[in-house]
Amino acid sequence: MDGLRNFFLQNPLKVKDFLEDRQIVEWLKKELDVENVSVVIHPVSSHSFEEVSRSIGMGIDRDLTNVMAYTFTKADSYHIVYRNDISTRVLEIMHEMVHVEQIESGRLVLHSGFIEFDGTTYTNDYINGANWSSLPWERDADRRAWDLYMKGMK
Ligand SMILES: [Zn+2]
Repeated sequence: MDGLRNFFLQNPLKVKDFLEDRQIVEWLKKELDVENVSVVIHPVSSHSFEEVSRSIGMGIDRDLTNVMAYTFTKADSYHIVYRNDISTRVLEIMHEMVHVEQIESGRLVLHSGFIEFDGTTYTNDYINGANWSSLPWERDADRRAWDLYMKGMK
């Protein structure tokens, strides 16, 4: 993802930047074939990202300095929290929406002590020790977010 982030830092967003984030999410729901799911977006400034994340009740105990966005489920809805003042904002939303699709399709299953992806189990110890962007569901989300972005640009 770092390569993509660098690309976007050097090439500011165009087409999708003129759409409201809500419209982008609706477009993504169609593209990802998850039109029936409820998605709530929480655009947050970087300044208050950490504070808001804690108040949302995520029980977040990790450093959020390098976290641009994340998704959690609550009351049958997906909630996407993201920094709304970064150049990769749209790409982050696309990445998180791929996670929604992964969960809805059953490819990604979140348990309390481990994660299953495509039938393989990854313990929290393994995940915490891994390079985040190398985890298979993250690589999948990065790749497909990029494809969606390119499609959305046309
Ligand atoms: Zn991710």
